[in-house]
Amino acid sequence: MSQSRHEILPGVGCDVTSCKYNTVDCRCCAETIRVRNEKAETKGETYCSTFCPRGSC
Ligand code: SF4
Repeated sequence: MSQSRHEILPGVGCDVTSCKYNTVDCRCCAETIRVRNEKAETKGETYCSTFCPRGSC
């Protein structure tokens, strides 16, 4: 699901600088985000499914 860059999401900080929604001050400008992995049991098993590498979507 691709979406366009939007206003900055209040309260969301993100250090994934390779994502096209990441801003210079490490915030997120997607319209919404979704964190996935229903089977996650550790922090590392969760992931942002809204992530989109720069230049590829
Ligand atoms: S979409 Fe997800 S990975 Fe990308 S900047 Fe926002 S929170 Fe970070």
